Amino acid sequence: MNLQHDISAEPAPAPLACWSCAGPVAPEALFCATCRVVQPPRPIDHFARLGLARGFAIDPREVERSYFSLQRQLHPDRFATRGAREKAISQAQAVALNDAYETLKGTLSRAEYLLGLGGDAPADDRTIRDPELLMEQMERRETLAGARDAAGVETCIGAAVADTMTIEAELGDAFAAGDVAAARRAALRLRYLRKLVDEARARHARLLGGE
Ligand SMILES: [Zn+2]
Repeated sequence: MNLQHDISAEPAPAPLACWSCAGPVAPEALFCATCRVVQPPRPIDHFARLGLARGFAIDPREVERSYFSLQRQLHPDRFATRGAREKAISQAQAVALNDAYETLKGTLSRAEYLLGLGGDAPADDRTIRDPELLMEQMERRETLAGARDAAGVETCIGAAVADTMTIEAELGDAFAAGDVAAARRAALRLRYLRKLVDEARARHARLLGGE
């Protein structure tokens, strides 16, 4: 499966009708080109919503730029003199944009979303079935459990953070190569590793707090 966005393979989306003037509007359009009235969020994917090409390799600054430029157009001040329906629609658009931004800005959430779009990552199945991965996680947990003081926990955190960076690079390589199995595996490792780092940081804080 090709995880990169192949625009040529997709039929051009049929124009939708503006709720106010019935003029044609593109699915990702915030406003009707004819009457300039705000349009409700359509069921398009997060990449399309932010006007980004579908793919893992996205410059985070591009996500920011796109999100903030769209969000500015929906600022409540701009709708102060508009009717209740337009206000409600602009808010719904703002929520949809937020959702897209939150999902795409993070490495792991973007990877999982992209895998889900390809039908390769059932959202409810994040259990480790791979014996090798399971062993890796158990060893990490044992090391963390065995750390007796804040310095020991810090060492665990340092090792896990270093591994996180390596796995993020592997994730990028897997997507670039279109290797879905490798991308899934890397995403799962990353999910567990992040959880471990969060837990280790919480424990570190408790240790420093003298509990
Ligand atoms: Zn219109």
